[in-house]
Amino acid sequence: MTQQPDNASASAGAVTDQGTGCHAGADELRRAAESAGQSALLERLAADYPTGPHDQPQSMCPAFGSLRVGLRMRRTATVLCGSACCVYGLTFTSHFYGARRSVGYVPFDSETLVTGKLFEDLREAVRKLADPDACDAVVVINLCVPTASGVPLRLLPRDLNGVRIIGIDVPGFGVPTHAEAKDVLAGAMLHYARNEAEVGPVQAPRGGRSERPTVTLLGEMFPADPVGIGMLLEPLGLAAGPVVPTREWRELYAALDCAAVAAVHPYYTASIREFETAGRAVVGSAPVGLDGTAAWLDAIGDACNVAGDKVAAAKNAFLPAIRGALAKAPVQGTITVSGYEGSELLVARLLIESGANVPYVGTATPKTRWAEPDLDWLESRGTVVRFRASLEQDKAAVDAVRPDLAIGTTPVVQHAKQQSIPALYFTNLISARPLMGPAGAGSLAQVVNAALAGKARFDRMNAFFAGVGDGDTAGIWDRMPQPRQGGAG
Ligand code: SF4
Repeated sequence: MTQQPDNASASAGAVTDQGTGCHAGADELRRAAESAGQSALLERLAADYPTGPHDQPQSMCPAFGSLRVGLRMRRTATVLCGSACCVYGLTFTSHFYGARRSVGYVPFDSETLVTGKLFEDLREAVRKLADPDACDAVVVINLCVPTASGVPLRLLPRDLNGVRIIGIDVPGFGVPTHAEAKDVLAGAMLHYARNEAEVGPVQAPRGGRSERPTVTLLGEMFPADPVGIGMLLEPLGLAAGPVVPTREWRELYAALDCAAVAAVHPYYTASIREFETAGRAVVGSAPVGLDGTAAWLDAIGDACNVAGDKVAAAKNAFLPAIRGALAKAPVQGTITVSGYEGSELLVARLLIESGANVPYVGTATPKTRWAEPDLDWLESRGTVVRFRASLEQDKAAVDAVRPDLAIGTTPVVQHAKQQSIPALYFTNLISARPLMGPAGAGSLAQVVNAALAGKARFDRMNAFFAGVGDGDTAGIWDRMPQPRQGGAG
């Protein structure tokens, strides 16, 4: 089935300057998008991904989240439409992270953008890619300039030869973080799959349907965690369902066909909307540590109408093991936690239950009602939690707290290390460990304690390099720097 566009030309609001981008005026792009008839899209994005108090946390181009979700799915082709410099950065980053998959690109110039030829080029690219032997879906991602110009991806054919065409707008001026951009694509795919399931039979999961009711897991997690969650669910008569974002189109149907959804990452607003429309209950937080696991089992039991004695049996089976694992791997010290993954609050909970003092947690992701159980738990222990935290706030927290260890993003880690404060990268070192159930209970201690023990080494390094790379000692000078004549200091 092929739909013809009724008005495929980018409107009068077209942004024709390819140099306009994230460094040159989100406001201008937003205005252009409005005059290009994109107000409804901007309103939806503002509702799903609210900004403030800080508008846009510093992180990579948000579209990377959508790109990565598409690239990790089997039988899915992905096409970017945006300025060449944006596409260069996005493809570079995706290959840096081992995409091992081509990224399609439909370039444009001022003329093709304004005349609507760009849309025709996109439609042609999609037509060429829509080979049902190779693909279940083709994803087209509008970056900032085509979104601001109103390039109408909604007018692409809904499917070609049985291959689904998913067009999404992921502008940096509407989607604050790459974490939320994952939700933009996951939500669009769930929407499509839900509509398919409503009108007829759909493909079963690769391994067949689960005999037990399932709990869909929302948010990317360490590969061992779904297995651990499955073990926790077994005494309840439940099984772990797919993780969303899924790795294959057919898993979307299984994800929708669940008894409940565990919003392990609480910012998947568009995906949650699809699950709620499908009538699924959604449970926040995750089975982390002792309190977290007990509360989560209760909440899942409630959502899935599991008898109280089964929930009690699950708690009796797992809570002593978690208590034992936490006691065997204590963490002592003051730690600040910041990141943009969406699991920062869960990590802080585990650290506190391991014995650490965690006075500050900053996350680039927004506050949603699914984050409330973790927020309440942390605040009741005196932790300050900042949603949409900016780099400046994270660094100020390190300066104010002077922790024994700072867990954070690259610039936060750098800021801490410059002051001899041991620091760990959240993404590489913390997200690469299980967090859930008994397996997660003691998993952070080894890496955290090793880092805490490194303070003396940092002091030695800082003393050795004191004054190097700072002020006059930074960069290459072709003559001796001289004090400014008459300058103010
Ligand atoms: S697409 Fe990404 S890199 Fe390009 S202007 Fe937008 S936010 Fe910046």
